[in-house]
Amino acid sequence: MTLFQMDKDVMIYKFTPKLNRKLRKWIRDNGFFCTLRYGINLSYQVDTEDAAVLVPHEFDLSKDEWFHEHLSELGYCGEYASIVLDVLHELGHDQTMHLFSGVEIEYSHLLKDMIPPQCCDRDRYMQYWNTPIEHAANLWLIMYVKLFPRKVSELEEIFTKYGEDV
Ligand SMILES: [Zn+2]
Repeated sequence: MTLFQMDKDVMIYKFTPKLNRKLRKWIRDNGFFCTLRYGINLSYQVDTEDAAVLVPHEFDLSKDEWFHEHLSELGYCGEYASIVLDVLHELGHDQTMHLFSGVEIEYSHLLKDMIPPQCCDRDRYMQYWNTPIEHAANLWLIMYVKLFPRKVSELEEIFTKYGEDV
């Protein structure tokens, strides 16, 4: 059973301290300058001092099917585990955020904030993922998995070895 298939049955993914340590190392070893630490939601945060992928203690994978659908529409055709794509998406922000102005970033955040935590409205997610900032992160993700399949497989292996699903 691949991780991707498993994800369809498992809705919560646990980011354990051990997993985070391995992820942080992978991020560093592959030339990214951001770090990884705990946050409320899976997201990307940047300020003048520091940039980080924030991971929650427990991540709900239930919207990932829509996310995959969206990525497929953009040209993604891999079979990587959902959680791998989720983290690569945040790294995509790290790699593309500098292209956007403060107003564009605010607009994207505003749309995200307007989605209630337990929202099951597919269109609202799609609208949010179509904002230029999300679009750029996803196009970066698609480029990265095409150019660096070995690196992405290593990342997936870390999740397989050290990740915990509930
Ligand atoms: Zn995003």
